[in-house]
Amino acid sequence: MIEFQQVKKWYGSYQVLHDVSERVEKGEVVVVCGPSGSGKSTLIRTINRLEPIQEGKILVDGIDPNSRDVDINQFRTAIGFVFQQFNLFPHLSVLSNLMLAPVKIRRMSKAAAKELAMSLLARVGLENKPHAYPDQLSGGQQQRVAIARCLAMSPPIMLFDEPTSALDPEMVGEVLQVMKQLASEGMTMICVTHEMGFAREVADRVWFMADGAVLERAPPEVFFNSPTHPRAKRFISDIRSA
Ligand code: ADP
Ligand code: MG
Repeated sequence: MIEFQQVKKWYGSYQVLHDVSERVEKGEVVVVCGPSGSGKSTLIRTINRLEPIQEGKILVDGIDPNSRDVDINQFRTAIGFVFQQFNLFPHLSVLSNLMLAPVKIRRMSKAAAKELAMSLLARVGLENKPHAYPDQLSGGQQQRVAIARCLAMSPPIMLFDEPTSALDPEMVGEVLQVMKQLASEGMTMICVTHEMGFAREVADRVWFMADGAVLERAPPEVFFNSPTHPRAKRFISDIRSA
């Protein structure tokens, strides 16, 4: 579903990605972890060309997002991206936030978009909040709306960049629960997260990044119990002693 072929990227003269060659299969859940500044955000942002690359190739369901022939706006609407910040439109109700893209981009009728929005709200446990505005919701609720808004475009892939890092601790679980449900429904997902419990429970594979390279990729039980790369070993022992 997603393939990185010897991907290299520089910010100016600083090389941020070194020869990343990885694959994500359809329906696979990959958790990306590693120290701050290791290139995790940059890597997942290359998938929908929020960050262009200078060398190598990326294929997303057979499409090269860096090809000149790609309609990048069209391409981006097909990939769900959830950030640390919730990015809802503050002046629109939850319902309007969810209906916007299906009506404007997919040309869905308002009635159909509303029905879709309500079913998605039920899916993320917010069926009683369609008329609320973002600032009337908790961070965890806003993030669940943000996920529902992505799902309204029926994305084949969902990318998450530290979706729980800006949340108060008591709200982390409700967002992870929604992500876990998506994973169990077969969504192809790449999640950058520090939630190692989620990685253990939900990931098919964990990628460990340091200094712009993926140094280890392994099923969680292997990654956590018998990592091979010294940097991964140190990372895991740091988590254990934290
Ligand atoms: P992570 O998500 O793992 O914390 P990032 O991908 O955000 O790492 O950043 C990787 C490295 O690239 C860091 O050293 C960061 O300072 C640098 N970097 C990130 N974005 C930019 C940018 N737009 N311009 C220059 N350097 C950047
Ligand atoms: Mg980051």
